[in-house]
Amino acid sequence: MKRITFIAAVLLAQFAIASQNRKVLIIGMDGVRSDALQQANTPNIDALMSNSFFTYESYHRGITVSGPSWSTLMCGVEYNKHGVTDNSYANSQYNTYPYFPTRAKSCLPDLYCVQIVQWAPMSDNVYNDGWDLKLLVQDGQGSQSVTASQNQLVNPNLDVLFVYFDEPDLAGHASGFSPNNPIYMNAIESVDGHIGSIMTALQNRPGYADEEWIILLSTDHGGIGNGHGGNSSQERTIWWIGSGNNASPIQMTGVTDPGSIALGNYNASVGAQSPCQADIAATALDHLLRGSSCNPTINPSWNLDGQSWLDSLYTPPALAVNELPVDNFDFIYFPNPSIDLVSLWYKNEENEAISYEITDLNGKVVEINSNVQGLTPNKLNISFADKPKGEYFITLIIGAQRQTKKVIIE
Ligand SMILES: [Zn+2]
Repeated sequence: MKRITFIAAVLLAQFAIASQNRKVLIIGMDGVRSDALQQANTPNIDALMSNSFFTYESYHRGITVSGPSWSTLMCGVEYNKHGVTDNSYANSQYNTYPYFPTRAKSCLPDLYCVQIVQWAPMSDNVYNDGWDLKLLVQDGQGSQSVTASQNQLVNPNLDVLFVYFDEPDLAGHASGFSPNNPIYMNAIESVDGHIGSIMTALQNRPGYADEEWIILLSTDHGGIGNGHGGNSSQERTIWWIGSGNNASPIQMTGVTDPGSIALGNYNASVGAQSPCQADIAATALDHLLRGSSCNPTINPSWNLDGQSWLDSLYTPPALAVNELPVDNFDFIYFPNPSIDLVSLWYKNEENEAISYEITDLNGKVVEINSNVQGLTPNKLNISFADKPKGEYFITLIIGAQRQTKKVIIE
């Protein structure tokens, strides 16, 4: 009996180490115009915005139809790569451009990822999506999505949850996509209530205090009259919310419309200045894979169109103070433990030459890198991808000053 208890304790300890604390919730609302969201009474979305990076000026860059749009959000690439141009999902290229959970699992195979949707094509017509569980509830029944979400959120192993609500789109098709249509506005406000229930379930997770969630919200398109699929500003003007742990909201305003691939006038350099649908997948991947050498910001082989806004919505705990070290020649580093990539921030007021050494626990030097070029004047990344897991000492050498700190690679 005693032995069994001991083995169970060891297994639990291993489980605690294996489970990662960076987690992602994505909430999708189908067919929500930006002007309608701004005018609707949505206290739960407002609460999420209170620590968000967000904009009401995200311009659709592709085809304003659900299949291509959700594919862009989930794959991090536009329709000219993922291939989906309508709701038949014909010509999809998910083997080349998979959903982001597949990308994340290529680095962290143990992630547990769940999708809960109300619209069958998003469940049935998609493959290579990386979901461990795909739940399809009745179309237009948001309360079923909430119950399914609550059932999933009690699982401590859950790492990624995507929940999708169809009610605003159904209301828009039935009676008009307009902030002047109370039926459409009620549908948006009803989903806001569902979001409140999901956030309560999230915050009631037993391990919530030790977890680092980001919550990403967006829509697939707006609408005009009783439909969508065109390029009017009512269909193309959408919104983007990334809620993390930053203390005060950051709203991006005055966004320039970068045009769209569907219109043939897309300007990528303008597009890079503001968040778009493909940035949902990229930001989720950046969060899940922080500290890994397969992080999307340094993994161009994935050929993502989206970029990460994580640094605008989320401050890693080790850097919560957001300051450089107090002492000249000192450094701080993150994450620790790491999978294989460690970032160092340092103060080098004299602008001296920088190098570093990595030694193992026996004092053996396993890497020397002299005359380092930092990413910025105050930051450099060190990859441990070519080294066995274990503990190492990093010695940062600035001029003649040396500082040594221990890091765990697991
Ligand atoms: Zn629709």
